[in-house]
Amino acid sequence: MSALQTRTPWAIALHGGAGAIAKGTEESEVEAYEAALTRVLLHGAGRLAAGVASLAVAVEVVSLLEDCPLFNAGHGAVRNELGLHELEACVMDGVNLRSGAVAGLTRVRNPIELARHVMTDSPHAFLIGAGAEAFAVRRGLTMVENSWFSTPRRLEQLELLRREGASRFQDPEVSLSGEGGSVGSGGSTVGCVVRDTRGDLVAATSTGGLTGKWAGRVGDTPFVGAGTYASNMSCAVSGTGIGEAFMRSLACREVAALMEHHGMSLQAAVERVLLHNLKPGDGGLIAVSATGPVVMEMNTPGMYRACAHEAGVAAVGIWTQMKPILMEGAAASAEMDRA
Ligand code: ASP
Repeated sequence: MSALQTRTPWAIALHGGAGAIAKGTEESEVEAYEAALTRVLLHGAGRLAAGVASLAVAVEVVSLLEDCPLFNAGHGAVRNELGLHELEACVMDGVNLRSGAVAGLTRVRNPIELARHVMTDSPHAFLIGAGAEAFAVRRGLTMVENSWFSTPRRLEQLELLRREGASRFQDPEVSLSGEGGSVGSGGSTVGCVVRDTRGDLVAATSTGGLTGKWAGRVGDTPFVGAGTYASNMSCAVSGTGIGEAFMRSLACREVAALMEHHGMSLQAAVERVLLHNLKPGDGGLIAVSATGPVVMEMNTPGMYRACAHEAGVAAVGIWTQMKPILMEGAAASAEMDRA
């Protein structure tokens, strides 16, 4: 930041997936999700308060969410129809519109880190499968067995789907509403949007996809414009929900386009995409623009989410109502997480 540039108030939002999350969920489970989201949010907020750039913060935040077994990314990712984990991720830098994406990963512990390397250290924007994993090895990233991503809950979810017989992926009109009703069995994909004190925007998203997906299926998460998008001209957006719907509508890019070409506010653009480009039950979006507060909206009953703004506003929630978070610990928490 040059001496002439003004300092922008930082802001951050993160999601841990959207879906039909049952309101009768055990309080202890709700608390576990809220505690995890709060811990990661405070880490990101502390780093932004310390002046760390949005790219580093977004990748760190998504890596922490990938390591948390509650969420469907990294350790805790859902299983495909064969019982295996196939992971994907994307990061996009609003400064220069550069992006890095990966898909079909079975052994990279933190897919979002590999996505960042694709963006910064390769001539490409999207790597898949064996070639992507060979690149991860060359970059010295941590490699794990596929079973490292497994948790008992994801096995239960696959078994439930198998017991139900028909694959929901036979139905092109499938939606997240009305199935996967309890906490943890929805999408639980993770994402983060950040504005740093230079005003630079970044979006990052990571997922294991959908339970029981066909082997080789790739969703919206790693597709620039579908599940992830960032431009300093408008906003940074991360989506979660039925990937096929987000891909058809280029949901995240559409939010940016409505701002860039139609002068809409971030709030109006997000609401319009959820209402007109997606259908009820498809999912949710988190977004931040060059100025102002973050926006977090969904057309599902719930979305795991949290946000913080330099002005001292921070909140976490699953359903419509959000709970305030005390911000004082932000800087201290970042120190602790790094130690
Ligand atoms: N969008 C992800 C996918 O379709 C799933 C999710 O957001 O939970 O792969």
